Amino acid sequence: MLGAVELGGTKIRVARGGGDGRIEAGETFATVGPDESFARILDFFRGGSPIDAIGIGAFGPVAVGRGDADYGRLRGTPKPGWRDFDIGAAMGSLGVPVAIDTDVNAAGRAEAALGALAGLDSGIYLTVGTGIGGALIVGGSPAPGASHPEMGHVALVRAPGDDCPSVCTWHQNCAEGLASGPAIERRFGASLSALPDGHPGRALIAFYLGQLLASLVLAAAPRRIVIGGGVAKTPGLHERAHAAMLRSLNGYGLYPGVEGPDFVVPPALGDDAGLAGALLMAGACRP
Ligand SMILES: [Zn+2]
Repeated sequence: MLGAVELGGTKIRVARGGGDGRIEAGETFATVGPDESFARILDFFRGGSPIDAIGIGAFGPVAVGRGDADYGRLRGTPKPGWRDFDIGAAMGSLGVPVAIDTDVNAAGRAEAALGALAGLDSGIYLTVGTGIGGALIVGGSPAPGASHPEMGHVALVRAPGDDCPSVCTWHQNCAEGLASGPAIERRFGASLSALPDGHPGRALIAFYLGQLLASLVLAAAPRRIVIGGGVAKTPGLHERAHAAMLRSLNGYGLYPGVEGPDFVVPPALGDDAGLAGALLMAGACRP
């Protein structure tokens, strides 16, 4: 039996399951301060069947390189109380191996092993929700790097007349600042799916996400892009963002499959991709 944690910006999911990504009983609770949040996580794993290892997919920035001196420690998050919080140390009292990666790297691993990126040599998993984050998956695993990618903070060109303040602490024109769930709430006072179908906000968010997808195509040439997260549950979002991506590319940088209907898709594992990926990570580090 293995443990999995999905540490999100607004909620935390914990579960037991198998190294094949199969999720058994779990719990979900709101993300609060780190001490209280991890007390609940530890309570869950101390009760019930013992686990052999645990995988954690966390919001970032977080140190994910096994060789990093600060492996498992959160870096530079604006979340009150969470900056420099040491996830690995917090889990240490369970006495089992702990694998830590970003939430999107975990979800991308699961989609590559079991879902929409299976059988592809490269793909991108993007989440558009409380924040925007992405994972570049190559050969079934996140591509190596000095840190994890920060795809949500790629700079975009604003639509003419759009002077709505960004929700990003650092950037006035990044994807997360302009098109994440909180950015949409600030713009329209509602979620994207709550806007009427013909509302111009739907086209505006597709315009921004399309620019982000075009940058990812140009930088990494993925075989497919999976978009999950709360905003991506808006009906028609994948098709609209794909069409906007092609308009942004304007005929340049195209390759086989990039114009096809299966290039931008929702996660095959739905909301379970992150937890399933955390179980795969736990399976890989189990003694
Ligand atoms: Zn930003």
